[in-house]
Amino acid sequence: MTPHPIVVQIVIDKPLAQGFDYLWDAEKLGKLPEIGNVVEVPFSRGKEIGLVIKVSNHSDYEIEKLKSVERLAPLPAFDPALLRLMNFASQYYIHALGETILPVIPQMWKKADNWEKIPEKLESAQKSKKKLDVLAEGLITQEQLNPSQKNALQELLASHEKENQFRAILLQGQTGSGKTAVFLNWLASILHDESAQVLLLVPEINLTPQLERRVKAYFPDKKMAVLHSGVSEKKRGVAWYEAMTGKAKIILGTRLAALTLMPNLRAIVVDEEHDPSYKQQDGTRYSARDLAIWRAHDQKIPILLSSATPSLETWLAAQSGRYEYIRLDQRAQGASLPSVHLINTRDPQNQFSPGDVGATKEKSLISKTLANAITKTLAEKKQSLILINRRGYAPVLSCSACNWLSKCAQCSTYTVMHKAGALGKRSVLSCHHCGLAKPVPQFCPDCGNADLKTLGHGTQKLEDAIEDMWPQARVLRVDTDSSRKSKGAEALFQEIHNGNVDIVVGTQMIAKGHDYQNIGLVAVLDADSRLYSADFRAAERLFAQLVQVAGRAGRSGSSSDAGGDIYIETQYPESPVFQYLLRHDIDGFLAFTASEREEAKLPPYSYQALIHAEGKSLDKAIQFLNELKARMRSKGMLTKELKAYDPVPKPVMRVAGSERAQLLIESANRKTLQEALEMIDQDLRQDSTGRISKTSRIRWLVERDPISI
Ligand SMILES: [Zn+2]
Ligand SMILES: [Zn+2]
Repeated sequence: MTPHPIVVQIVIDKPLAQGFDYLWDAEKLGKLPEIGNVVEVPFSRGKEIGLVIKVSNHSDYEIEKLKSVERLAPLPAFDPALLRLMNFASQYYIHALGETILPVIPQMWKKADNWEKIPEKLESAQKSKKKLDVLAEGLITQEQLNPSQKNALQELLASHEKENQFRAILLQGQTGSGKTAVFLNWLASILHDESAQVLLLVPEINLTPQLERRVKAYFPDKKMAVLHSGVSEKKRGVAWYEAMTGKAKIILGTRLAALTLMPNLRAIVVDEEHDPSYKQQDGTRYSARDLAIWRAHDQKIPILLSSATPSLETWLAAQSGRYEYIRLDQRAQGASLPSVHLINTRDPQNQFSPGDVGATKEKSLISKTLANAITKTLAEKKQSLILINRRGYAPVLSCSACNWLSKCAQCSTYTVMHKAGALGKRSVLSCHHCGLAKPVPQFCPDCGNADLKTLGHGTQKLEDAIEDMWPQARVLRVDTDSSRKSKGAEALFQEIHNGNVDIVVGTQMIAKGHDYQNIGLVAVLDADSRLYSADFRAAERLFAQLVQVAGRAGRSGSSSDAGGDIYIETQYPESPVFQYLLRHDIDGFLAFTASEREEAKLPPYSYQALIHAEGKSLDKAIQFLNELKARMRSKGMLTKELKAYDPVPKPVMRVAGSERAQLLIESANRKTLQEALEMIDQDLRQDSTGRISKTSRIRWLVERDPISI
């Protein structure tokens, strides 16, 4: 043993609060260690990929007993800015540093056996780069911006001299007001600097191909790295490498891209910043938007948050002057706003009566008022989008004789019926929570009755109903089932763009981000099911979705065109969500929601966390949380400042055979909550292996800033 051994501390992807010491053999590994090196180490009986977080000459353990680092990845060390971000995320989200950092490394770089071959692979990837077809119409240069867009860009550029300074900017403008053209022109000015890198975050994979083409059109000479879960492992590995080595100048991706290494990061854009998809729902449950803001602040760079319907948090920050506030009030290309129509489904006038022209044999899934509007839209040779937020044929199958219902054997939910051809050759009952699928029974499993009926409706049933009512129309269904089956969502969207479709039936998925040119009518059939929910954010989310959906109508270029029509079927037309929508009053709705939240002391006027518990029985999970709460009380943690509610079953209590409960903790003070969560984590870890209790076998997790309660 050398007199001055080199000891490195390594974190690995395990729910372990500490790092582990290893010896570093500089001769064998070819160089001295650096903080941020990716390595392979022996761990337990196998091997693990780890990251060096500390380098020293001593260890609290016996040096002789330490194992050695086996291999060093051919990668630059993680840069200090990213390590700061990861440290913050680990602390804030109460997740071990290792399990926060390691997941950002693409699979390709996690197989140490491949490390030697990677340089070769990178070479071939360079050569095989296919040319993206660049859409010229996506390109709107600075000169082509409308006056409102020009003003917005001027404001963004005006503070340009404030270099090396954190700026958070909200760019708020109606759907179709041309926010993308504004921020792309802004990024262009930043990318004048040859070495600069920019990060562009989008909420969903489906939105990336379209934006990718637009970005390419703006920056044909800049290397772009696209990072999301839909990109192949190899491509992702290459893109990540090009970002971390500074070769890629534009990094475009979904939430996971927020944690990409970028040594020359100069600006961040978060598009559709209000979208709940930015919240990670497993592993470290971070908000990519919030981490991006922290990162911009830490690295002293500007961040632009773009939305038609900002989240309440962001909107309040802009209103109070904490964020810069830029508004785009004109719709680009002169298109006007769609007219909103609320169809009161309780009003018999809106419904078919027997004998009406066009009435269906059974009760129609579509109101008479809407049916007439669709017929008119068809006659005008325009497209209709009909939205219902449930895929499948019907949400449940029931027996008319004994009231049997198609429940999932593993979950506390019903299985959804999917028609033959949707999820395999035969029609199946599928659970949307655990994925279990089984053939639709011919007879009731309880009483043998053959008369099984579907209750409610999903996209497939609606598609059938529409084909019945308008046999001459070309109907296309767009949901995750149909996009998985065919050539993917992009191919379906293309069908709409090309005008090969008259009526589109689909989930919310159709409404996001796509600039269709010939939509005359948009209808939402199940808004009510999302209006009343235990979750206090339900109304805010529904409002944002409806605004987005409305934005799909009437985007066609000519200014003589009316803005299109949006129809919402509801039993509660008087509800504030619909009333503010009727007036296109986004700020009014947000102000109203803010005052409601303030009165009820709900976020953003307080801070929340959930302690999740999951085990074989609900009783045990609840008991586990009750015991935790009792310990919190005995330690004097429950004060006026910190409130713990009673443990409750989760909205979907049983999933895949596990029963789940949660404990909500709330404080008006961010720091108080942080300290409490750290104490809770410590407390629970005392009796746990990883995050599983040794005594009760309950699996637990702390979640900061949950977005659904
Ligand atoms: Zn039965
Ligand atoms: Zn299930």
